[in-house]
Amino acid sequence: MLMDDYTPVHAVYKKRMRKLQKLLGSAADAVLVTSSENLRYLCGFTGTEGLLLLAGDSSFFLTDSRYTTQAREQVAATDTITFKDKAQELARIVRKCAVSGICFDSRQLTVAQFHDWEKALRGIRLVPRPDVFDDLRMMKDAGEIKLLGRAAKIAARGLAETLTCIRIGMTELDVAAELEYRMRRNGCAGAAFPTIVASGPRSAMPHGVASARRLARGEILLIDYGCVYEGYCSDETCTFFLGEPTAKQRRLYAIVKKAHDLALAALAPGAALRKVDAAARDYITAQGCGRRFGHGTGHGLGLCVHESPAVSSRSKSTARKGMVVTIEPGVYLPGWGGIRIEDTAVVTTAGCRILTKTDKHLRVIGC
Ligand code: ZN
Ligand code: ZN
Repeated sequence: MLMDDYTPVHAVYKKRMRKLQKLLGSAADAVLVTSSENLRYLCGFTGTEGLLLLAGDSSFFLTDSRYTTQAREQVAATDTITFKDKAQELARIVRKCAVSGICFDSRQLTVAQFHDWEKALRGIRLVPRPDVFDDLRMMKDAGEIKLLGRAAKIAARGLAETLTCIRIGMTELDVAAELEYRMRRNGCAGAAFPTIVASGPRSAMPHGVASARRLARGEILLIDYGCVYEGYCSDETCTFFLGEPTAKQRRLYAIVKKAHDLALAALAPGAALRKVDAAARDYITAQGCGRRFGHGTGHGLGLCVHESPAVSSRSKSTARKGMVVTIEPGVYLPGWGGIRIEDTAVVTTAGCRILTKTDKHLRVIGC
């Protein structure tokens, strides 16, 4: 099907396609897009089976018969084609366009798929360039920032409702089920990742997904949660206390909160992201807990929960207006428990604006 007139929405996709081709430079004369997030970003397709080939001014979207109707409604491409054999159809188009090299994201392909393509596309250079795809979605436009803000708002509403019904004796799984249900009732498509609800000593596991453990008085309750809205993810961590905190719990909470605030204060256009990481890490280290903070301070967030840029000691990126990253320092003491505080922020002209909505001051719940 030929679509020669782009609607305004299609103009956005066309711009993004050109951006990808610009990032590609002279590495190859065509680029093949395979990941569902990049397909959504570049041409609006929300299904699970599709390929987009960009070659010069042409864009070809390939899908199977399950998605023919959906692709016709959604996809901004010059041609939308239903295939029977994916590799053969791709080869036909590639030869028609006289393409000599195809750039692709090597992380999104199985070895078996790669061999299939190699066979079908004999004589055509296949150029793995994952870095090009990393850079593509790093800066968010106003529309994307709106959706990320909306996702964060829906999630926070879900959490606020869940907090009113958390009681000692409930299991972590009960809390996760309540939270996911309430986020959905508030309008999201589902959880962005397996909800982390970690209580007591389990909170020392940075990725302790909800278990059958029961909440007990005096313990820490760490909730790291997010939802998906129109494809965009939210990500926020709150650490609560199930009863009046001990002096040690208070002290560690204050250390992590201060580290979190320092990193957010450092996040501004032009700041090296490793320095934003250092703002949190150096403070935690100065407080004697450096060895208890093993992970990076944050990560990019968008159509994926974890995407570029990383906010870590190894990060080579610089903060730029429109980047959306998390700031999530933590301190974890095995056998005792852990504290993490995470917000998502968008880099603005002057500094940054926090998208996540839950107050991060020390809070006692469940009593
Ligand atoms: Zn998180
Ligand atoms: Zn995160």
